[in-house]
Amino acid sequence: MTAQAFKNPLETEVQYLKGVGPVRAAAFQTAGIYTFADLLEFQPRRYLDHSQIRRIDEIQPDEEVTVIGTVVGVERISRGKRRLIVRIADAGGMLEAVWFNQVDLFSKIFHTDQLVALSGKVGFYRGWQMVHPDFDILSEQKEALHTGQLIPIYPSGQEFKKAAISNYAIRRIFSEAFRKYGQLIPETLPEHLIQKYRLLRRAEAYRQMHFPSSAEMLHQVQRRFKYEELFYLELLMALRKFHFYSPVQGLPINIDEKQVQQFTAGLPFRLTGAQKRVLQEIRADLVKGHPMNRLLQGDVGSGKTVVALLTMQMAIQNGYQAVLMAPTEILAQQHYLSIANLLPEDQYRIELLIGSLREKEKSRIQQRISRGEAQLVVGTHALIQEKVTFANLGVVVIDEQHRFGVMQRGDLIEKGKSPHVLVMTATPIPRTLSLTIYGDLDVSVIDEMPPGRLPIITKWRTEAQLSNVYDFIRTELSRGAQAYFVYPLVEESEKMDLKAAVEAFNYLQKKVFPEFRLALIHGRMKMAEKEKTMAAFKAGEIHLLVSTTVIEVGVDAPNAVIMVIEHAERFGLSQLHQLRGRVGRGSKQSYCILITPGDISETAQQRMHIMTQTNDGFRIAEEDLRIRGSGEFFGTRQHGLPDLKYADLVTDQRIIQAARKDAFALVAADPHLRDKRHQLVLQHFKSRYSDKFRLPSIA
Ligand code: ADP
Ligand code: MG
Repeated sequence: MTAQAFKNPLETEVQYLKGVGPVRAAAFQTAGIYTFADLLEFQPRRYLDHSQIRRIDEIQPDEEVTVIGTVVGVERISRGKRRLIVRIADAGGMLEAVWFNQVDLFSKIFHTDQLVALSGKVGFYRGWQMVHPDFDILSEQKEALHTGQLIPIYPSGQEFKKAAISNYAIRRIFSEAFRKYGQLIPETLPEHLIQKYRLLRRAEAYRQMHFPSSAEMLHQVQRRFKYEELFYLELLMALRKFHFYSPVQGLPINIDEKQVQQFTAGLPFRLTGAQKRVLQEIRADLVKGHPMNRLLQGDVGSGKTVVALLTMQMAIQNGYQAVLMAPTEILAQQHYLSIANLLPEDQYRIELLIGSLREKEKSRIQQRISRGEAQLVVGTHALIQEKVTFANLGVVVIDEQHRFGVMQRGDLIEKGKSPHVLVMTATPIPRTLSLTIYGDLDVSVIDEMPPGRLPIITKWRTEAQLSNVYDFIRTELSRGAQAYFVYPLVEESEKMDLKAAVEAFNYLQKKVFPEFRLALIHGRMKMAEKEKTMAAFKAGEIHLLVSTTVIEVGVDAPNAVIMVIEHAERFGLSQLHQLRGRVGRGSKQSYCILITPGDISETAQQRMHIMTQTNDGFRIAEEDLRIRGSGEFFGTRQHGLPDLKYADLVTDQRIIQAARKDAFALVAADPHLRDKRHQLVLQHFKSRYSDKFRLPSIA
């Protein structure tokens, strides 16, 4: 047999599928579709349901329907409320679709003689009318009307139009491809699980996705792919947990009760109940005989640092070194200073290793680390350079872990021999989800703030009220307070937004607060420059800091008590909460002022209300999740996890639990996936995750 015969049909490049060719292939590539496998995963945006299609003369008021007709007029109206009216006609009559938002955008989409499908609720207002309907531009009448009950409607953009890839064309391509390769689509789930849950087989599931025979089948398609996706996610967790952690011997740590007592008694404050509980959990890990692998979650200001410090101290007492890695120099410096404050310096040898040190200084510190002379090392990415070797690393602490890739985390851990690991985050994950997201970590939560903090007062104001806001800030600044002004920077229009931020800064400095010192900080600035400005702000040399969203997480400037967030409607809830966490870090009353235009969407209004109602990060995370759905909530960037295309981590809890049980059972029975029956699982696992997610070496 030739190598060709082994080739997986799913890897066939789209160009070689019937009906594609080089021009269309190039257009497909703009949508990330390179192979037949990618094409199979090209999910219809939605399905047109034939049972809901009505002729205009059959419509009942307030009914949810789809109408298919020809555009007979497009009219922009600027008198009164600005709007766009698109009139369509079918054999039964006329209907108007109206858009009040994005009039310019929609007026470019519609033109006369187009065939369109409009779906939505129909009202009667001097004739049949749909407000903001869903719409599809159809290419062929026949196609729309005569094929099956449910017609998939695929996403399409400019590139597709240029290459004449209509919805109909896509369906033709699928139909040919299924005829040729349909039988060859390999299964990815073990037989016993398909049987157990009566899942659709993979080939059938794809066929139904693109040529559904009923709405029930579409439901089954979703169920099959959700389970598959979650099964492999949990398999990743199970393998990581099994191979990275369990079998390894942990470094033995004896805890000297008296010393711990002494140390906590020497702190300038008493530990909160939550801090004590979390410390108990950590201590239990340290003596268990396996390496600790724990995530410490706690809202900004909840006091994670001292917990980390106590953990490191216990390791040092046992003759090990401890390291704390922070994402930026300013944070590392801050940690270094507060740790040096809390630990009696004559008893502990502490070092700070950051990139901006002079070479000579760096190599001196590196030497002290490799000889074991440094006991506690605080630093940045500079710590994971090859040159840095530890004599006897016992505990690794990683602060703001989402800022580091999984790889970087691993690189630091590998500086030791299975050290105990504590990763910390201020991004609260709803409890219901942390098991899935951090399936390979144990989770501790600090859910209590140190006593005596005044809750931040949060107000929502519209742009029209800005002058009042300015007056308020002026009064506070003249009393010695400091303030942040944050402007959103959206990636697509970074340049424009940056311009807006610079203009705002100039305006604020010249026209609004000429008597105060303002500074601007944004993402295009060099790291060193940013840090210099931040340091000046911390030192009180700057009264008001205008910034894009780059204010570093965790920066402690207790005198900054006002946070103004411009265009707050553009931020997600968790982001707003993170930004708000920059203030309220001292004993003074702090304020967060959210500024939005007068007219914002309903979900944005919801976000503003939640922000004004609560300071509880977990509640906010839960609301955020509820409003946004888990797809957006867990961007891969935040959590280093594979994308989920089908499953929703909130609504699919039952499937998650089943998949988790099955995946963990499979790994427990066959940790290296060597069983012949697991070969397809192993293969798919490898192709799915490649090495992006730091695989344990299995098989
Ligand atoms: P984060 O969890 O955001 O890292 P930090 O560890 O920086 O929070 O703590 C925030 C501030 O609270 C620090 O100034 C710290 O000294 C103080 N702090 C921590 N724990 C307590 C406590 N139990 N009582 C009073 N203040 C505390
Ligand atoms: Mg912190």
